[in-house]
Amino acid sequence: MNSNHDPVIKTENLTKVYDTGFRGEQVSALKNLNLEVYPSEIFGYLGPNGSGKTTTIKLLLGLIFPTSGSIQIMGTTDIYSAYVKKNIGYLPEGSYYPDFLRGEEILRFYGQLYGLTGKELYKRIDEVLELVNMTHARRRMLKGYSKGMRQRIGLAQALISNPQILILDEPTTGLDPIARKDIRDILSRLRDEGKTLLISSHELLEVEMISNRVGILYEGILRVSGTLEELLTSKDRIVEFANAKNGVVQEIKDKGGEVVDQVNDKVYLKVRNDEELYNAIELGKSVGLQLIKITPRRETLEELFVNVIDLAKKERSS
Ligand code: ADP
Repeated sequence: MNSNHDPVIKTENLTKVYDTGFRGEQVSALKNLNLEVYPSEIFGYLGPNGSGKTTTIKLLLGLIFPTSGSIQIMGTTDIYSAYVKKNIGYLPEGSYYPDFLRGEEILRFYGQLYGLTGKELYKRIDEVLELVNMTHARRRMLKGYSKGMRQRIGLAQALISNPQILILDEPTTGLDPIARKDIRDILSRLRDEGKTLLISSHELLEVEMISNRVGILYEGILRVSGTLEELLTSKDRIVEFANAKNGVVQEIKDKGGEVVDQVNDKVYLKVRNDEELYNAIELGKSVGLQLIKITPRRETLEELFVNVIDLAKKERSS
């Protein structure tokens, strides 16, 4: 039996080598992946193009077979069973449906694929339309939908079998800010209702806004994974000064201060340790600034991402 702390998705040393079919060459797309995704969380699966995200998703969906290693989903290694299939909803990137179909027709079609019929089918269609705020447009044809509406119907389709797990490939790419916010809200709500979400994405800001945990993949290797709290700690602090007069900012920079922002008469300096903090305060005093406050600064996911990839590149070339 699965307890609340057991991972819903767990891979052990999962490895995939593709035969390219060209001069016997092989591509190592995934190397010894140990991934754990827990119940009721949003896991942001990140990595530049070609890092192995799609390969991982295909393996989890049972569309391709591992070269070595294992996958457990909801406690079973029989990931090809009807039970597991019913419990994984998948939304591919830029999913496409014919324009002449109505929203509810798409859902009826996919519901039937899962064996839903009659009242049960209609009830579930009503529920998923409600979940993605599309009840009002259910009878309209897709050609009249905005991109955001299409994506929401895609999400409804992924939810039709009431799966425990949702795997979403770039769910907000190409959407305007309002539509992105709609999708983010829906995904957070699904998580709060107990679903487990694996989101593969390039949109670091989006992922940072909604994920509980993230993993960064590069060249087939999972470089880091953990909660945002664990990963985005930083010893950096921001020192805020007031009373900055003309020319002072340049003077600070000339004397080695790291100015990160400037608003009206306020200047913000970044420091990395106690010694730099002491120096910044002294520097501020020496140019006539007034110290306002010192605040810890959390690293952004984008900074972490860039640092992790840079480090991986350096390790490879050394
Ligand atoms: P991502 O989704 O992160 O962009 P992929 O999983 O698509 O990464 O690709 C990982 C690596 O595997 C890349 O080098 C890609 O070229 C290679 N690859 C993916 N699919 C195949 C395939 N069917 N045959 C050969 N190589 C592949």
